Amino acid sequence: DLKNSILGLPITHNGIIDDALLRDSYPDFIRNSDQNGEKISHSIGGFLIDISGQKWVSVILERKSGKPINQIEIQSLKTFMNILETVLKWQQEYKKIYLNATQDGLTGLLNHKTFKDRIDEEINRAKRFKNDLVVLMLDLDKFKRINDTLGHPYGDYVIQTVAKIMSENVRTVDVVARYGGEEFAIILINTTPEMALVVSQRIVDNIADYPYSMNDETIQMTISGGMSLYPTHSENMKDLIELADKAMYDAKQVGGNQIKIHSNDDATIAPT
Ligand code: GH3
Ligand code: MG
Ligand code: MG
Repeated sequence: DLKNSILGLPITHNGIIDDALLRDSYPDFIRNSDQNGEKISHSIGGFLIDISGQKWVSVILERKSGKPINQIEIQSLKTFMNILETVLKWQQEYKKIYLNATQDGLTGLLNHKTFKDRIDEEINRAKRFKNDLVVLMLDLDKFKRINDTLGHPYGDYVIQTVAKIMSENVRTVDVVARYGGEEFAIILINTTPEMALVVSQRIVDNIADYPYSMNDETIQMTISGGMSLYPTHSENMKDLIELADKAMYDAKQVGGNQIKIHSNDDATIAPT
């Protein structure tokens, strides 16, 4: 609450708060404490740190002894706040650089490289805790025609929408990545094959049912997916991705818009 809190003061006042200002303009914010039966006003130093012109940090220092925070102390604290401001600015920059390096720019999903890192981590974790993992590779069906007939921006819109549907249909612990152009990869953490089929079928159905529409053009889109299981099919990341990818192509071969699960004898479990 910027108006009714002392932490809001450096922001609404746009700068340094000291005892004199508090006394003259904001006496309601002066706090007292009892020391030996005597009321002593707390001394206040308040500072505003501007990180990006939109994000601020408000710092309030309060001294209970009754000894005012003097101007020399205020100046030293201001120097300290400048250092803090620089640190926080770099922290924000680092966050931006980190997101740029790990996320796909179009969809906000993890990018290919980060997916590879994460699947490695997740396999190691699953080994340690003896959990199951499901790897799901997905590829939009006949997507190229969208670009060819309606243009690249429409294709981008479809990719973004599909990415959102995927993210919305998995748990927050699961990993969703844009593996390539119109290819996606999902790791379902500690999930049984039965549960994974339910989740992936829901993704396939939601993508098929979504009313894609932009600039008064409506289209339909479907996706095909393949699934491999850790540790049943392999304990190796490369194999798991390859087997899921193969199963995905099998799904395309029989018309797309469905999920196939890898099977060592090439049989497939029909989606329910
Ligand atoms: P299939 O059913 O066999 O998967 O056919 P497809 O048309 O989906 O697959 P194909 O690999 O022939 O085409 C994929 C297309 O995806 C080609 C490429 O131009 C397009 N694409 C890749 N990345 C992007 C992107 O970021 N935006 C848009 N609009 N198109 C993209
Ligand atoms: Mg495709
Ligand atoms: Mg493809």
